[in-house]
Amino acid sequence: MNFEELGLHVNIIRALTDAGYTQPTPVQEQAIPAAINGRDLLVSSQTGSGKTAAFMLPALHKLATAEVISYTNAKTPNQERQSARSRGDRPRFVAAKPKMLVLTPTRELALQVTTATDKYSAYTRRLKAVSILGGMPYPKQMQLLSRNPEILVATPGRLIDHMESGKIDFSELQMLVLDEADRMLDMGFIDDIEKIVAATPPTRQTMLFSATLDGVVGNMAKRITTEPMVIQIAGSASKHENIQQKVHFVDDLSHKNRMLDHLLRDVSLDQAVVFTATKRDADTIADRLNIAGFAAAALHGDMHQGARNRTLDGLRRGHIRVLVATDVAARGIDVPGITHVFNYDLPKFPEDYVHRIGRTGRAGRKGVAVSLVNHAESMHVKRIERFTKQLIPVDVIEGFEPKKTAAPSRTSARKPQGWKPGDNRKSGYGNNSKPGQRSFSKPGSSTAPRKDGGSAYKGNRQTEGGARRSFGDY
Ligand code: AMP
Repeated sequence: MNFEELGLHVNIIRALTDAGYTQPTPVQEQAIPAAINGRDLLVSSQTGSGKTAAFMLPALHKLATAEVISYTNAKTPNQERQSARSRGDRPRFVAAKPKMLVLTPTRELALQVTTATDKYSAYTRRLKAVSILGGMPYPKQMQLLSRNPEILVATPGRLIDHMESGKIDFSELQMLVLDEADRMLDMGFIDDIEKIVAATPPTRQTMLFSATLDGVVGNMAKRITTEPMVIQIAGSASKHENIQQKVHFVDDLSHKNRMLDHLLRDVSLDQAVVFTATKRDADTIADRLNIAGFAAAALHGDMHQGARNRTLDGLRRGHIRVLVATDVAARGIDVPGITHVFNYDLPKFPEDYVHRIGRTGRAGRKGVAVSLVNHAESMHVKRIERFTKQLIPVDVIEGFEPKKTAAPSRTSARKPQGWKPGDNRKSGYGNNSKPGQRSFSKPGSSTAPRKDGGSAYKGNRQTEGGARRSFGDY
């Protein structure tokens, strides 16, 4: 199957050829023809599966082939203001009337969607996409809205502000996309989403993308779609079969740091993301790595948007080789050069593990994901394995062997059991080893105080993620 067979407009295919896309990914193959036909979509697929193009290509196709008359007759808000001036009326702000709205959980993802849209619409000049985001100066947002863009990409909070002050009018909206809907709900955006959906015409086409379609997401999806086509992409993309996952056991913080430095010198490493539990650790480790001669930089929610953008730009351009980041700041990063992901600290929730390792192995490339794990955290590794339904092999490097050795069952082939909601929300990971369960520590040592202080699950270090997230963190 190629892009022509999916029925896309010739100018879009030209842009795809420029981008080096030769054939559609599985999610694109299913989603594009259905979306062109106007079907609502519920898509469960991971990031890296090509989901942005799966909704944006059919949308651009529809907008590009829509009646030209509507464009030639319609005045932009700027034109309306000019004619008001020439009539001698006082110019007023005319609300933008987008045809398509894409809601994303984070600013970074919104910017990525806008950049991808610019790439795909390079030969469909009329179509404009803009992002409206928290943290962007207000006059800049007004200027973007005054261009009356066809496509608006936004995070829910900021969009609500503009809707309520009459700067955006959704009466002409044709397509609504919820990207990473599960993330948006995790972040507490449900009321905002409901409010936004209620402001759009019931005739709209709705496309919802989410890692899971169960539970709260599924309920919301049912409410906001009409006879949707359900697309579930299983297999290598969701199981991350192209990513080699490993666990390295470490005895203490110094062992962990030495191991990280060694792994960062791997010749197959192009660029890497190192995940930490706290913003402060991200800064400290980035500083330490810089002193050790790695081109490293931190990325976290305490940084100003300008600094975050500069860091991401440096990463994309290859000036930064090692990004040291917290979960929320790194979500959605799509840089093909990232060959390795390191969990310096394990994530608080198994879902975040999947998002973290998905920063490598983009678009079917190979990647490596290494977790540096203290023995006391072995139960937490097990939770991740249950969640992903995959075992993560333990690796030992000569010269870096941990003093404590893993129990033999660690490497034996066992099937991870089903993960139950709530499993991952217990506090005190690593404290619940039972006799007979795989254990990597000496009897009794799992309850001993951690030496390395590197765990996010105990103590009172403030984490950037999970239940304590607030919009300001992003
Ligand atoms: P996404 O899942 O939308 O975040 O996309 C992941 C990466 O795959 C992005 O870098 C896209 O540019 C790339 N991509 C999307 N579709 C294709 C395709 N059909 N062929 C090659 N690369 C693609």
